[in-house]
Amino acid sequence: MTLIDTHAHLDMPQFEEDLDEVLARSRAKSISKVITIGTDISSSKKAISLTEKYDFVWAAVGIHPHDAKDFTKSTYSILKGLASHPKVVAIGEIGLDFYRDLSPHERQFYAFRSQINLARELGKPIVIHCREAASEVWEILKEEDGFSIGGVWHCFSGDLNLANACIKEGFLISIGGVVTFPKAERLREVVKEVSLDHILLETDAPFLAPVPMRGKRNEPSFLYFIAEEVARIKQKTIDEVAKITTKNAEHLFKFRY
Ligand SMILES: [Zn+2]
Ligand SMILES: [Zn+2]
Repeated sequence: MTLIDTHAHLDMPQFEEDLDEVLARSRAKSISKVITIGTDISSSKKAISLTEKYDFVWAAVGIHPHDAKDFTKSTYSILKGLASHPKVVAIGEIGLDFYRDLSPHERQFYAFRSQINLARELGKPIVIHCREAASEVWEILKEEDGFSIGGVWHCFSGDLNLANACIKEGFLISIGGVVTFPKAERLREVVKEVSLDHILLETDAPFLAPVPMRGKRNEPSFLYFIAEEVARIKQKTIDEVAKITTKNAEHLFKFRY
């Protein structure tokens, strides 16, 4: 059995002390690949250097909506250069975040639109981050023809209508630790109704650790608990969940040098 953690932040200071051990534990829990996701230029560079250190680590590069205020024309060309690295499999995470609202909305729109176009230029899928901005994210993806590039709506927290609409456009939705939280009935409903063929799994480590590790630092090995919960909801074995979600991730991200 193999699982792919499609979204983690291994460059963050939470992993500075013990990343070797963290990744050894994840290997022991059948995690065959981890995609470490950039949030700004410096973390995107760190993500790439981690892919050079660890065979099974791959990277996405991009500017998170929190950092969109710093996105300029030169950011586009810097990202383009970084994305030419053979282990960069996606542009992300990109999108809109009106919950923490750390960048003015106009700057978030600009960075999001620019990076959709960068992904199209490079032929790489996009990793979408969205908090309290679903209709705006949807509108921009439509206007910029972002769905045609292919991608994933990470840490999906929308309702079944949004999930079905994304899937109809050819997108995947990614399920994280929130699915194990007692109050996440709506998300469990989405997982129950949506075919596994449209689902990816992720930890978003070091954030959002699943039950029974909730409140602790999250790490890729905890993906196992998320896969178990998805299997329970779908009334399938964890092996089936692993097989299909791994196939989905391989199909979207390619993982080719
Ligand atoms: Zn995110
Ligand atoms: Zn993230």
